[in-house]
Formats: sequence, structure tokens, C-alpha cells
Amino acid sequence: MGAPAAKKNDQIMGTCVGHLMPGPTGQITAPPQPFMAPVDKQVARSVEIEGSPAVLAGESWGVCNPPHIGLSDAWTAQLKQRGDITTGSQSVLVENKPLAHGNSQCTMCFGPATRLAATGFSVLVSER
Ligand SMILES: [Zn+2]
Repeated sequence: MGAPAAKKNDQIMGTCVGHLMPGPTGQITAPPQPFMAPVDKQVARSVEIEGSPAVLAGESWGVCNPPHIGLSDAWTAQLKQRGDITTGSQSVLVENKPLAHGNSQCTMCFGPATRLAATGFSVLVSER
């Protein structure tokens, strides 16, 4: 069994620990922030998975939604709360980019995200 292929609006998920927010006497560490970013930017134009555009490692991205609020650090703007996909299939290329799948590694605001919740279960990507 392989990992499901990723399609538009599948989510990069994780928890950001270490954001900063205003405190009574300066910046303090914010509580852990859930990170959920539907991948909807720069998805494939020519290939669909189950009727939605395929997601491409190193190309497609999304922003945290709902956004973190109340921050006072470099990630205050929602567009900075970005998730990217850093790895994909070594053998399946879409538009010359690796097809992203459920085992792809991702990043969030800072550091690695926990997972890409890929839902294209009719297309399973195996790596050998
Ligand atoms: Zn964050």
C-alpha cells in the first residue's frame, strides 16, 4: 500500500510552539497554536486527482486557516503563516514536480509540520 496522493485543499497540519505575543511588560511566548493550511496555491494546472488539482512538492502551498491571531512576531500577517511541501514522490512527476502524498514532509510558519493530510485515496503512491 502506498500513501494517498495530495489534491487541492488537503491540509498541512501541525502545532506551532514558540510564537510571541504582547505581554504586560514585553513580548511573551504565545500558547501553542494549531496550524492547518489547506494547500490551494500553485497547484497543478493539467493533472487532477479525484476531480481536484494535484498538489506538487516544492511548488504548491497554503496559508494557515483559521489564522493565528494576537501574535507580535514575524508571522503576524496571515500570508506569513505559510505551509510548504518539501518532499514528494521520487518516481511520479506532475508538471516536472514531485507529486505530493500522505508521507510528504512539510513546513509551517517555522519548523516542520506534523503531516500532510492527503485525501486522494484512489491514487496510492508507493516508493521503492
Ligand atoms: Zn504558526
